[in-house]
Amino acid sequence: LVHPQQETYWGHVNPIGDRACYDEGKRSAETLFVNYHKQNKVNIKIIRIFNTYGPKMHPNDGRVVSNFIVQALQNHDITVYGKGNQTRSFQYVDDLVEGMVRLMNSRDGFTGPVNVGNPNEFTILELAEKVIELTGSKSKIIYKPLPSDDPMQRQPDISLAKKELDWAPKVQLEEGLIKTIDFFKKII
Ligand code: UDP
Repeated sequence: LVHPQQETYWGHVNPIGDRACYDEGKRSAETLFVNYHKQNKVNIKIIRIFNTYGPKMHPNDGRVVSNFIVQALQNHDITVYGKGNQTRSFQYVDDLVEGMVRLMNSRDGFTGPVNVGNPNEFTILELAEKVIELTGSKSKIIYKPLPSDDPMQRQPDISLAKKELDWAPKVQLEEGLIKTIDFFKKII
């Protein structure tokens, strides 16, 4: 419900929906870590990872970037769920790894949570068109029902990561997609 999302936002999730095991699993993990930190003084760092993609994703991972690339390279229909006007901010995997390493090396006492993601936001339809363009595919876009509890928009506020970790993403969507497409070309 808050956009862009800061670390102070407590979230708004359905505890019994289709995505609940995923959403609540991440929330429970934060709770367990914080309690081990408070009770047993375990040194912890909590990272909030926003949509990430890149080489070595599984072709059947089911995430939107891998689905669209795999479909485009085979000239199969590109499956846009809903109208495709929902947005996501896509982070290239190398940027995420750099953020993780910086967080692990951050000052003692800084536990996070800290958002690590790319704030540049695109609609799912824009992503589909970009993938078709970069692969030179003959695929057509088709529309499928929107899964339940699918967020309409998602964008991280990365001010805290900039301040504490001196981190910001370097790889923008087109450059990252080209590298990811090269990977999938080799395995398909
Ligand atoms: N999506 C889509 N077609 C697909 C896979 C996903 O249109 O083949 C949409 C999905 O409905 C969501 C967005 O792309 O709105 C991102 O989905 P993903 O599962 O990659 O990540 P999420 O942000 O939902 O965790």
